[in-house]
Amino acid sequence: MMIDDQWIGLGYLLSASLFIFGLKRLSHPRTAPRGNQLGAMGMLVAVLTTVLQMELGDGIEGWILIASGLLIGGLIGWFMAFRVEMTGMPEMVALFNGFGGAASALVALSESWKYIEDETLELPSGLELEVMVVAAGLSALVGWMTLTGSLLAMLKLKGGVEIFGKWIRTPTWGPSWLNPVKGLLFLSTLVLIYLSIQEPTETDYLFAIIGISCLLGILLVLPIGGADMPVVVSLLNSLSGIAAAFTGFIISNSVLIVAGSLVGASGLILTFIMCKAMNRELIDVLFKAFGGSDKEQLTRTKVGSDADEVAMMVDGAQKVIIVPGYGMAVSQCQHQVKEFADLISEKFDTEVKYAIHPVAGRMPGHMNVLLAEANVPYDQLIEMDEINPEMPEADIALIIGANDTCNPAARTNEGPLAGMPIIDADLARTVVIIKRSLSVGYAGVDNDLFYMDKTMMLFGDGKKMMNELNAAVKEL
Ligand code: NDP
Repeated sequence: MMIDDQWIGLGYLLSASLFIFGLKRLSHPRTAPRGNQLGAMGMLVAVLTTVLQMELGDGIEGWILIASGLLIGGLIGWFMAFRVEMTGMPEMVALFNGFGGAASALVALSESWKYIEDETLELPSGLELEVMVVAAGLSALVGWMTLTGSLLAMLKLKGGVEIFGKWIRTPTWGPSWLNPVKGLLFLSTLVLIYLSIQEPTETDYLFAIIGISCLLGILLVLPIGGADMPVVVSLLNSLSGIAAAFTGFIISNSVLIVAGSLVGASGLILTFIMCKAMNRELIDVLFKAFGGSDKEQLTRTKVGSDADEVAMMVDGAQKVIIVPGYGMAVSQCQHQVKEFADLISEKFDTEVKYAIHPVAGRMPGHMNVLLAEANVPYDQLIEMDEINPEMPEADIALIIGANDTCNPAARTNEGPLAGMPIIDADLARTVVIIKRSLSVGYAGVDNDLFYMDKTMMLFGDGKKMMNELNAAVKEL
């Protein structure tokens, strides 16, 4: 038995190490795919070790149920990952965060329920029933809040939901009285957890915590929108890890505590990195609700340019800075963009760099992933802080489907983009913008950059316009 315990411990140690090494490798695009594989391998080792532990313990009841769950869950995960478009990844991540939180909360509920219902059952060593109900209450608070918050975040990222053929936009709504309400609801869950310590066999408290936590998740995300969405998605990711860690405590599973803590900590670090990138305080994102407003659009017009005219401009350019955004992801034109960069550097000896805004696209690192897929050298991908000082020397800033991330309105103190650092594309000598219309970006703010004298608009789908531009450059 002793030797068995050692094997179980070794299995958990191996899987925790794989998670940590995997995380380390995720910090660079070049090593990230290997990091992902290491993490998946760690999860496989954790599942197999847990199954072995159960078999060596009281034996496994319900083999068929476990195997069916693994098979169905695995198939759904594989199918979703296979089908998802790159632009749909953020919604899928938000959905997975929510499922992670709910799975942890459900396991915590069923495990604690077992001991609450049958007081004669022996608790895992070192645990009192009171301690278990506190952990179950905390897991319920964080887990259910993560589920409803993540589902709402997913709908917000999608832009809305279709009901009976009618497209309904997900609202962004946060009157000032909502913050005290959220505070009261949060306090009431703490009171309920306290009450459940006094009466650990009373299950009503746990169900009340679940109900309030679901409402809290919705109220937390409802006022957040626009440029603040990346912050809230990474915060929900962190919460899903914290819920898992609480659940690991309840079922005495060390690897779940380690994995949950890793997700919780790394999600929190990412949240703060996103806050810094957006020039926001986390407290403001969660309670000030300045990320959301209905999309406003001024009725101004701008005459479009064409690929031949832009190609001639490029012919005389010594330095071109490409600013990719969400529209590049939608049109999947990263290969055409790379072809353009290769063409002009070979043909006109033009220096080409890419300006990467930390929240361009719809998920952290979105542009890096797309451009890496097209084999753009990493040393050409320059972070916002580093590229901005070079902008005034650029002959052309070529903006492909970016809008909010280079909208000068962010430099004012008003509106959903207020204070967000941007790519200073307007400082380049000429600005070329590829997008389909003059419409607003994710945050819904009209962009003065489109109407500047030095701006040339290439109206059309990203891929189509890049193909036309490449053809025009080849003809020169
Ligand atoms: P934006 O969302 O501001 O703008 C994208 C632009 O792309 C649109 O204005 C659209 O204009 C254009 N576009 C759409 N489809 C195409 C197409 N097929 N071809 C060409 N253009 C197209 O993008 P940014 O990347 O500048 O900013 C990202 C925004 O998303 C920020 O506000 C950020 O806060 C938010 N966000 C970011 C997340 C992240 O983690 N990175 C997560 C959640 C939100 P048109 O319709 O005229 O073509």
